[in-house]
Amino acid sequence: MESALTARDRVGVQDFVLLENFTSEAAFIENLRKRFKENLIYTYIGSVLVSVNPYKELEIYSKQNMERYRGVSFYEVSPHLYAIADNSYRSLRMERKDQCILISGESGAGKTEATKKILQYYAVTCPASQQVETVKDRLLQSNPVLEAFGNAKTLRNDNSSRFGKYMDVQFDYRGAPVGGHILNYLLEKSRVVHQNHGERNFHIFYQLLEGGEEDLLRRLGLEKNPQQYHYLVKGHCARVSSINDKNDWKIVRRALSIISFNDNEDLLSIVASVLHLGNVQFAADEQGNAQVTTENQIKYLARLLAVEGSVLRDALIHKKIIAKGEELISPLNLEQAAYARDALAKAIYGRTFSWLVNKVNNTTVLGLLDIYGFEVFQHNSFEQFCINYCNEKLQQLFIELTLKSEQEEYESEGIAWEPVQYFNNKIICDLVEEKFKGIISILDEECLRPGDATDTTFLEKLEETVKNHPHFLTHKLADQKTRKSLGREEFRLLHYAGEVTYSVAGKCVHHLNSLSLLFPSFIPSTQFKNSLSKLMEILMSKEPSYIRCMKPNDAKQADRFDEVLIRHQVKYLGLMENLRVRRAGFAYRRKYEVFLQRYKSLCPETWPTWDGRPHDGVAVLVKHLGYKQEEYKMGRTKIFIRFPKTLFATEDALEVR
Ligand code: ADP
Ligand code: MG
Repeated sequence: MESALTARDRVGVQDFVLLENFTSEAAFIENLRKRFKENLIYTYIGSVLVSVNPYKELEIYSKQNMERYRGVSFYEVSPHLYAIADNSYRSLRMERKDQCILISGESGAGKTEATKKILQYYAVTCPASQQVETVKDRLLQSNPVLEAFGNAKTLRNDNSSRFGKYMDVQFDYRGAPVGGHILNYLLEKSRVVHQNHGERNFHIFYQLLEGGEEDLLRRLGLEKNPQQYHYLVKGHCARVSSINDKNDWKIVRRALSIISFNDNEDLLSIVASVLHLGNVQFAADEQGNAQVTTENQIKYLARLLAVEGSVLRDALIHKKIIAKGEELISPLNLEQAAYARDALAKAIYGRTFSWLVNKVNNTTVLGLLDIYGFEVFQHNSFEQFCINYCNEKLQQLFIELTLKSEQEEYESEGIAWEPVQYFNNKIICDLVEEKFKGIISILDEECLRPGDATDTTFLEKLEETVKNHPHFLTHKLADQKTRKSLGREEFRLLHYAGEVTYSVAGKCVHHLNSLSLLFPSFIPSTQFKNSLSKLMEILMSKEPSYIRCMKPNDAKQADRFDEVLIRHQVKYLGLMENLRVRRAGFAYRRKYEVFLQRYKSLCPETWPTWDGRPHDGVAVLVKHLGYKQEEYKMGRTKIFIRFPKTLFATEDALEVR
């Protein structure tokens, strides 16, 4: 058998810690490229799995292959999702510690596919029973439903998840899955009312129109044609060749019934109401105040949402202001009314989605987090701010936990810890989340201030509070040279992954008050911060594994490796930082038994068997091989080897023998 280590010239190393030049980004990318060319899409950084989307079916997800990974130690088989899945499962069973698997990467990198494949792995390899079958069904079936409501076609991915998803799988004492729990984060609600060119709204709308039975559509007051609905045509691509909405509708319908939604029609009524809402139009009266001109829509909406038509109409064209303790109702102009309508559509859809997720839920234990990665667009708004903050937190957690687990291993092995230089992004997290003086605090304060708060007062307040922060910049604070690149309604954050400029235009400040008529607890940024800190708490209480997904090109094509794009992701995923932390001390470590078993033939004293303690056998072996003192250390249960070349020399000796 060709040893994975000696085949390194052709297929690269299967663990980046074995790269000779581990601080070189070029070497890192070259290794990825070599492996990608050979269809080896998985590579480790220690116990972190790096994955590159192959954009083609590979024969590595069969049942036979699943069996190969079952109960096998990480390093005995080639890198795979299944190794991560199996390892987490075994730690859960043997050490009785809660586990979580964090899957991150940008849109189209393969996160959702990875989540599904891990669930499939558990479905096949875990012990089964009748009850278990039901749970497996529920978990696997929850996917098409959540995808219908939470995924959309974007330029980058025809089936892009527009929400972060955290999924727990609960196992019983025999290790059989008995329950599941899903938390959702950050649904991209703006998509409900607007799509960029070449993108679509959430799948469910098109599925319902294309696949819905005639009398169902009649009851919902809908027409079959998506072109009829303002919310569906913004991106000019209601139909996409790669998507079969009619077929998908059948799958979603069936899935809904398996996860036992008896009240499907209520759910669909709400979906329909969003489309009707999008078609509500206004005209200005003589005073310039908005009036509803589409009575038909209001009629449908009243029925579908079970509210009084007149209440709804009033809510759409008025806002409520609380000034000096008094409530004032005042009319909206055209622009404001359209904004209020869209805000309502987004809120309704967002709440429906949360409700849906709750329905799928149960209780906790092995978590799968599928969340979208760092986003930088031409125009970055509040949504990108939230996403990037979330990634900033995950990166912090990641570095902290990696360092901690390294330190713990050194300690338990009795090896002196050597401090590691790394970039601690706590400073950026604090800038965003600190009480009273963090960006979120200030935003909330401005949102809740009655009357005169605007986007600019928010920015001014921000400038005043955080002006000397090394990671924060605005037009006013910038020097001459930088100033040109910053608008007056923008601020810039220097994230761990790079600079991002955010626009404050149209922040939640304006119309929040008018909305509170219908949604009393509508305070977006605090709500988001709290749900995020809950997520962090959950993650901190578990033993994490990481899967870092990358996409090789923007064309969704197989066998194309775009180096610029890859380099960008290596940076945004913080992979070099990760490798540095992992390689700080020793490139390689193995249990004495395993090391001895592999190399005992290289020394007459350990071959064919060594009768003493494995520790002593390894000591004799490496002395015979001529390891120098600075090249390795002997821990309690493992040998630690500092440089890859030492290990490779030993491997080569094995080959020539
Ligand atoms: P993300 O969730 O990161 O946005 P997805 O998981 O939806 O990305 O993947 C996007 C597309 O890439 C999938 O629809 C699939 O066609 C392809 N893909 C992703 N991972 C794999 C894989 N392991 N094997 C084959 N194709 C994949
Ligand atoms: Mg996804």
